[in-house]
Amino acid sequence: MREACRIVAVILKDLAAAVEPGVKTMVFEELARKRCADFKVKPAFLGMYGFPFALCCSVNEEVVHGFPSDRVLQEGDLVSFDMGVVYDGFYGDSATTVPVGPVNGDRAKLLDVTKESLARGIAQAEAGNDLYDISGAVQKYVEGQGLSVVRRFVGHGIGRKLHEKPEIPNFVPQDAHRLTLLPGMVLAIEPMVTSGGPDVEVLSDNWTAVTKDRSLAAHFEHTVAVTKNGPRILSLAD
Ligand code: MG
Ligand code: MG
Repeated sequence: MREACRIVAVILKDLAAAVEPGVKTMVFEELARKRCADFKVKPAFLGMYGFPFALCCSVNEEVVHGFPSDRVLQEGDLVSFDMGVVYDGFYGDSATTVPVGPVNGDRAKLLDVTKESLARGIAQAEAGNDLYDISGAVQKYVEGQGLSVVRRFVGHGIGRKLHEKPEIPNFVPQDAHRLTLLPGMVLAIEPMVTSGGPDVEVLSDNWTAVTKDRSLAAHFEHTVAVTKNGPRILSLAD
């Protein structure tokens, strides 16, 4: 799983390095497929539940599951890449949001808060903690900063399948029941945060999820192993 995740992290780094104004988002799909071929791994999302691309590429108000397209990136856009691969039967999954050129104000805050919320969630991935300690840490931080967590999409267990139990919401559900984290569990923790309300809707392509109020969204994800020595982020490039 570490190798699957390492490859995902390297690909995400390559994608982020290719972000600049004037680039069509389909370029990132081509790059993602090329890098999968280089590493001799299968892109995890292509064909999964019928998803037509190797890469989820979501711009601005698009939260997740956006299609790479002829859309041309503009300075100030926020582009999210969500990438997964299969290596030797194991899945890796990670996501990042990259600004197109320098951003400040609300856009910079959205990126900073989402990234920090992921770090706070990961810090709770300790053996003996409750699963919802992760959810609660993300929610508390994001809402404390005046932003919203998306509720419709959640993180997940990961291993020989992309999506395994348990679901990992970025909020504490009303009917939360305890689930104690144990060494050996591997979790894809992935806060999706908006600068407006938490509601999303899916466009007529049946995939692209956008904020209902068309506010901006950001998405960061790591695959994290619960170990007896604490959380270990697997989706790092080195
Ligand atoms: Mg993902
Ligand atoms: Mg995921």
